[in-house]
Amino acid sequence: MPIPDGCCIRRGFRRCSNPPSHIISIIDGSGEYMVGVVCREHLMLVESIVGLKQMQGEVPEGSVRFTELKSVATTCNYTP
Ligand SMILES: [Zn+2]
Repeated sequence: MPIPDGCCIRRGFRRCSNPPSHIISIIDGSGEYMVGVVCREHLMLVESIVGLKQMQGEVPEGSVRFTELKSVATTCNYTP
């Protein structure tokens, strides 16, 4: 699954332009669903948003997990 290149938080029509630091996923009995990515600044905010969306049935019930994104390096990190 491709990872979005920006934080999923929007304020009005403007999207947060911070680079994402964590993947947000929901784990339930049948698996793990990625719901988006978020920057460090909005971690707490997105946690409450996901909780709200779960109550509204927009995202599956389950525990919310944040997985820290490793810096996406395109260079080979092989060290002999
Ligand atoms: Zn953000």
